[in-house]
Amino acid sequence: MIARVSLEIALRKEFDYAIPPQLAGKIDVGSRVQVPFGPRKVLGVVTAVAEESAQTNLKPVVKVIGEQTLVTPKVLKLARWIGEYYCCAPETALKSVLPEAVRKEDASWRERLFVRLLPVTGEFPKLPKRQQDVWNIIEERREILLSELVELAETTTATVRKLEDRGLVSITNEISARDPYAKEIILATQPIVLNPAQANALEKIKVAMDTAAPQNKADAALGKTESEAFSPKPSTFLLHGVTGSGKTEVYLQAIAYALERGQGAIVLVPEISLTPQTVERFKARFSSGKLQTLVAVLHSHLSAGERHDEWHKIRQGRARIVIGARSAIFAPVEPLGLIIVDEEHEHTYKQEESPRYHARDVAVMRGRMENAVVVLGSATPSLESFYNCQRGKFSLLELPVRVDDQKMPRVRVVDMRSGGRDGKGPPIFSPQLKEAITQRLEKGEQTILFLNRRGYSSSLMCEKCGYVCECPNCSLALTYHRPEQLLRCHICNWNEAVPKNCPNEKCKNPGIRYSGLGTQKVEDVLQKLFPRARIKRMDADVMKRKEDYRRVLDAFKHGEIDILIGTQMIAKGLHFPNVTLVGIIYADMALHQPDFRAGERTFQLLTQVAGRAGRGDIEGEVFVQAFTPFHPAIQYARRHDFNGFFEQELEFRKQLNYPPFSRVALLTLKGRSEDKVKFSAEHLKRVIESKAQSPKSKATTGERALDKAGETLDLTISGPAAAPLARAENLYRFHIMLRTRAMSKLSSMLERITSALVLPDDVSLAVDIDPVDLS
Ligand code: ADP
Ligand code: ZN
Repeated sequence: MIARVSLEIALRKEFDYAIPPQLAGKIDVGSRVQVPFGPRKVLGVVTAVAEESAQTNLKPVVKVIGEQTLVTPKVLKLARWIGEYYCCAPETALKSVLPEAVRKEDASWRERLFVRLLPVTGEFPKLPKRQQDVWNIIEERREILLSELVELAETTTATVRKLEDRGLVSITNEISARDPYAKEIILATQPIVLNPAQANALEKIKVAMDTAAPQNKADAALGKTESEAFSPKPSTFLLHGVTGSGKTEVYLQAIAYALERGQGAIVLVPEISLTPQTVERFKARFSSGKLQTLVAVLHSHLSAGERHDEWHKIRQGRARIVIGARSAIFAPVEPLGLIIVDEEHEHTYKQEESPRYHARDVAVMRGRMENAVVVLGSATPSLESFYNCQRGKFSLLELPVRVDDQKMPRVRVVDMRSGGRDGKGPPIFSPQLKEAITQRLEKGEQTILFLNRRGYSSSLMCEKCGYVCECPNCSLALTYHRPEQLLRCHICNWNEAVPKNCPNEKCKNPGIRYSGLGTQKVEDVLQKLFPRARIKRMDADVMKRKEDYRRVLDAFKHGEIDILIGTQMIAKGLHFPNVTLVGIIYADMALHQPDFRAGERTFQLLTQVAGRAGRGDIEGEVFVQAFTPFHPAIQYARRHDFNGFFEQELEFRKQLNYPPFSRVALLTLKGRSEDKVKFSAEHLKRVIESKAQSPKSKATTGERALDKAGETLDLTISGPAAAPLARAENLYRFHIMLRTRAMSKLSSMLERITSALVLPDDVSLAVDIDPVDLS
């Protein structure tokens, strides 16, 4: 027998190896194996097992990793689709379906040394700074490879050994049985009686599960025959309901039904909402009672060992429910009955490195492949998903009111154009917002203030000559960070001291001024306005560790903070009953970006942030400060009118032939020499034109215009042009944007083009299908 192996080193090719007698029967499709390749030994995945090979003189497989096949045939099929659709090497796609800790698992991995936190008995000792720094990292990670720790902490093994001597950590070479949530006691919850809208949604989902999935076990249990049960119709639902309308409760009961049918479920949530609160809700429902189902959690804050164990719990079928961020969509749940994608509009579902997949779209595809029901949930669905409902591709389920009958908060838009003080630039707080904050402080209620930019000032500009301090590596103004007295680049993290005089040699004016606004400045000004208020800021600058995040939220929950200022970090799914006021400092900040989704994003963000107000007994109030107060995204958000926004935004997309009316592929070329990048981009465009034979007249006629032989493709090519972010990390960037209705065709054409394309050595090309980030 021979095994066909896809090797991890991306070669876009598969190789045959002989299966030696001692490994016979241990190798199957999906097995991870080690094989000789030239003088090296490399890892790969078996994609097929066959009787014979066209090659002779095959080298044998060296060994098999793990006792079970690691990539199930279904996940293998999904990875293949990702490789084709997202235009990346199959090896790259395959690599992303297994967590690193599982992929690398072999004897040597197990023999490496792990540092693990030990429980502290009695008082925590005062440690020398270096040891304390090291301990902090271990605390954050709970368990970490010794080699990784030494590198991360820039320390030596000797320092770590000192912590071991003090009995604070252990250093061993084995992986413990790890449960990241072992220490927590979770109280069981029971299903809640649903309101009519919820009940209707659940019923439809259940019916779809009954008809869609001829999963053998489930059907045996239900006594159905194969033909009765079989229905090729895939079922994807969009559950549209405002925050607090009871979506999560519907998910929980749908999962319970999947379990009853003998099936498992995957729940995707954005990384940022994967809080202990969220995980607890799922564990509380399923870790007790007669089902006693294990819930596995997969996310980036787990240690390598924990991720390894959680994954194997799933593979072995001990855990039937997986909750996780983006990559959990590849979890080997079998049989899979249900996939839930919460906050489906979230941009973090898109992976911004190859394979550039969108987990929501992968979820829909996986559901189709495995006959699993997919439920996408959101208060502000993406235009694409909502449009899919209109076209009958998805079914729409609506939860129109909050469970507690709470009214939506009252939203007031404040026109900031009239508020400018002479020569001083726009104010941060309008009188209306100031007054509202004062009232909340007097009544002991809480306020959230939102601004989507960290730092102090967004730029440093000379008043006399107009010079703006820019990053030397990126085409971006440097942001002033006051605590460190530094100018910092938010792209490449470059930093430099604040100049005293204008750096322009010809000017040297000492009157250099900060303009624009960041969260640090909001905090500063606010503290001056309300010296006695207890104010905390939450953004990537202060929340360096996961613990910080939890600590601040706990303090806020317990009323120890009056005003919380933050970036989008605070926009998501947090429940604080005592928050009655939300202020959005500059609502239009995201509007003026060269991105066709700018309006949609602003609408979503405003709706999400506004949803933080008034979740208790008191009606909430929201102040939206804006310089373009009549922009539709702001006005529709003010009226909580998703349908209105959707209709007008759809019209705009239609006129310009943007998604959902077309699909986009964004090609980015990067390099040190602007000329070379530009030249390469123009060359690439000509190649695409000739390959597509793109008659522009066909661009509007849609898929039907496609030639059966695949020779012509409806295609609109824009560019090449300098990208909005024209230079980043010292590389010039050029974009070519392609729009088509037949993306699979375009993908395979791009695949052929890029694999034959010869670019100058120092120019690189990235292909992004269905891009989310257009910068
Ligand atoms: P969403 O996920 O849409 O934000 P949740 O499912 O979290 O909404 O529901 C909000 C709150 O209302 C939760 O505390 C939940 O337990 C509760 N809840 C949900 N459904 C019902 C119901 N039918 N009756 C009473 N309370 C409910
Ligand atoms: Zn930079």
